[in-house]
Amino acid sequence: MTRVLLTGGSVLDVASGEARPADVVMEGDRIVAVGTGLDGDEAVDCTGGMLLPGFIDCHTHVCLPATYHEDDPLDMPRSARALAAVPVLRTLLRLGVTTVRDAWGADAGLKLALERGWIEGPDLFVSLRQVCTTGGIGDHWAPLSGSLDLFGDPSMPDPVFCGADGARDVVRRMVRAGADWIKVTATGSMVRGTGVHDVQLTAEEMRALVDEADRQGRRGVMVHAHGARGAELAARAGARSIEHGTWLDESAVAAMAESGSWFVPTLSTTHGDPDRRPAAVEAHRRAVRLAVEAGVPVAMGTDNPVRPHTEVLREIGYLSDAGLGPAGALRAATLDAARLLGLADDRGEVAPGKRADLVLLDGTDLDPARLEDRIRSVWHNGRQVPAAPTGSGRVAGERRGDERPGSGRADGEPPDGERPDGGRPDGERPGSERPGGSERPGAAPPDQRAAPDSSAGGAALNGTTR
Ligand SMILES: [Zn+2]
Repeated sequence: MTRVLLTGGSVLDVASGEARPADVVMEGDRIVAVGTGLDGDEAVDCTGGMLLPGFIDCHTHVCLPATYHEDDPLDMPRSARALAAVPVLRTLLRLGVTTVRDAWGADAGLKLALERGWIEGPDLFVSLRQVCTTGGIGDHWAPLSGSLDLFGDPSMPDPVFCGADGARDVVRRMVRAGADWIKVTATGSMVRGTGVHDVQLTAEEMRALVDEADRQGRRGVMVHAHGARGAELAARAGARSIEHGTWLDESAVAAMAESGSWFVPTLSTTHGDPDRRPAAVEAHRRAVRLAVEAGVPVAMGTDNPVRPHTEVLREIGYLSDAGLGPAGALRAATLDAARLLGLADDRGEVAPGKRADLVLLDGTDLDPARLEDRIRSVWHNGRQVPAAPTGSGRVAGERRGDERPGSGRADGEPPDGERPDGGRPDGERPGSERPGGSERPGAAPPDQRAAPDSSAGGAALNGTTR
């Protein structure tokens, strides 16, 4: 097997946060050696760069851009939902994101398509739907029409349940359709502004979800919770991760620390458009600080398309600023994310035996600001990710909105704050944002660069999701 030598650069040890000059040798899909003076059959010059493990987004929604950016989602054929993920996945991979956990919206067929190589993208773990009790934010129902489920099909089972038996049943439905994770909503939606501090399920229901998911192949439960009480209840029931956690307090983080629950803050939901809800920005930063002080482990997740998927790496900067620091934020996006997903034996570090998911950045600075401008190359499973085809632009028919910074409708939580009516109350048109210009100083030539695809998920949000 060909030994590929990545030579002349530095390697970031994400566990310690230290970068040292070192070579890396890949063979097949594995890293086989890290050190100085190594050799190989083929060499890649990494001079002036730093190798990191591939990034992991533990909370994204790769299929939602299409549904949520159309004027009338009811006009969309079902296949469009999955096909809209194709440019999103390609973009994420080119930005160095080699593993993602989809927090609902993607079905198991998309995962199959990636595994079979029909499409290009990160390794994908799916939750299918966000399960909830009657009237929760995954319950697509409107007083006028009754059920109006934009997502219902056999591969996306009914997510609504009631009672402990119902909780076990909904887990079994999801597992039957291929869910890797169980996603549940414990509070209402910040975007819709209702029930954010309510606790929308009982401790008994939560315990049943966790127990059943665990019995079904040791699956974990990821919990949408803005208010502290919903997060605390979920943590005490053994939830694997608390998502958003905008208003976590001392008691909630103590419960999380005690139970070993992870925190995936998804700061992009509040920090992507900080003027929109300044109080939530402050609360969110406090939540991260409290969690870190209490020893709650933190992993990176964006909740995109709350922001365009092209902005995925900005979450690392938000985490750094919120108290993790540059090294801590990079660890949250790599090794710690792998730990949350139960994959740390396989990936998350540049170390012998680990999967050859690698990002080559320009320079050795750990500062996570504008990381996307520093991506020189990406390897996924030992294979170099192809650069964007010359002249690739938006997909046909994609509309483009206002490109002012912050023009994206960072509404705090669109994907999870789903609405059943498909309406767009403010009449805003969807937009898309291209990643920075076609030439970046110090970046690799266009034919070698793992450039993001501007057609992907760049669309801003619309009212459908608020
Ligand atoms: Zn979400």
